[in-house]
Amino acid sequence: MPKRVVFTPDTLQQPFGQQMFERVKAHGLEVEKLKSNRITGLRGADERETYRNAKNTLAVVCAPPSALRLQPTPPSADWQMNLAEGCPAHCQYCYLAGSLAGPPVVRAYANLPELLQNTARYEQPGRVTSFEVSCYTDVLGIEHLTGGLEECIRYYGTREGAQLRFVSKYDRVDSLLGLPHHGRTRARVSLNAEPVARRLEGGTASVEARLQALRRLALPREQGGGGYPVGVVLAPIMQIPNWREHYLDLLDRIAGALDFPCDLTVEFITHRFTPGSKDVLLQWYPNTSLDFDEATRAVKRNKFGGTKYVYQPDDMRTMKQFFYQEWQKRFPSAPVQYWT
Ligand code: SF4
Repeated sequence: MPKRVVFTPDTLQQPFGQQMFERVKAHGLEVEKLKSNRITGLRGADERETYRNAKNTLAVVCAPPSALRLQPTPPSADWQMNLAEGCPAHCQYCYLAGSLAGPPVVRAYANLPELLQNTARYEQPGRVTSFEVSCYTDVLGIEHLTGGLEECIRYYGTREGAQLRFVSKYDRVDSLLGLPHHGRTRARVSLNAEPVARRLEGGTASVEARLQALRRLALPREQGGGGYPVGVVLAPIMQIPNWREHYLDLLDRIAGALDFPCDLTVEFITHRFTPGSKDVLLQWYPNTSLDFDEATRAVKRNKFGGTKYVYQPDDMRTMKQFFYQEWQKRFPSAPVQYWT
């Protein structure tokens, strides 16, 4: 629950903005109607306070026209379709640090129906085009207040040539179970070894709660589940002490939660950071135990000249082999979508 909820003036002209307004009110939250489209009052005395103010604020805004130009998002999907930017959780390795400008306020888009319809232009005949809605937010973390994910699932349920993909570290899936997804949404849950989740993923649902959410999403409708194609995103994989043991425990628990036939995939993402994200994260979480030691990492450059610190090639090989082997042992018919 945010401490502050603001709506910009143009959002209340949108039927979907009105719907969000009603939802927020139904949760007993006060709404501030802003006079202009600028969100103010986020800056605190220092970075920490600004961070706290921003993370506790939900701003309902209209996505700018530039949001109609989709960006590719390999390897997880063809295109990103953002229903919001910013996330209420406190992961100390957060992927958003350094990639979103300004204080990390959650911005949910009131013009979502327009954004969704726009994605039809990106569908290609003869193939399934995938759209990822979780690039810049945790969709389930804000769903109770926005209903945005439900809107997306319903929309793609009507699109034969498209697939919706989302991933979350939250567990409130009740509202999703009965939706007409028609198998066109892959519902993924982000999981990690217990010590990583406990120490570094503040404000998220526990691993156990996420496993139960995954089970309910995957269970057939007749058994009270959502009947969704599902996925596990193991991320970010970290070489913590005794990592093999901790990740084996997690894989066993996933196998326990999914002890029935289901359409399952997995994505493996190892921990990485950039000079920019390290900077921001150390301001937000100055006491973090996260390993940010460049000396133990390999440098990866992208085509725009950016630098990323990833695990050394030898470590990568060892981990990759381990995860592929252990995954295939437990889930022989659940494909690995990628390792990165
Ligand atoms: S759930 Fe994702 S977006 Fe939210 S704080 Fe954690 S890493 Fe960042």
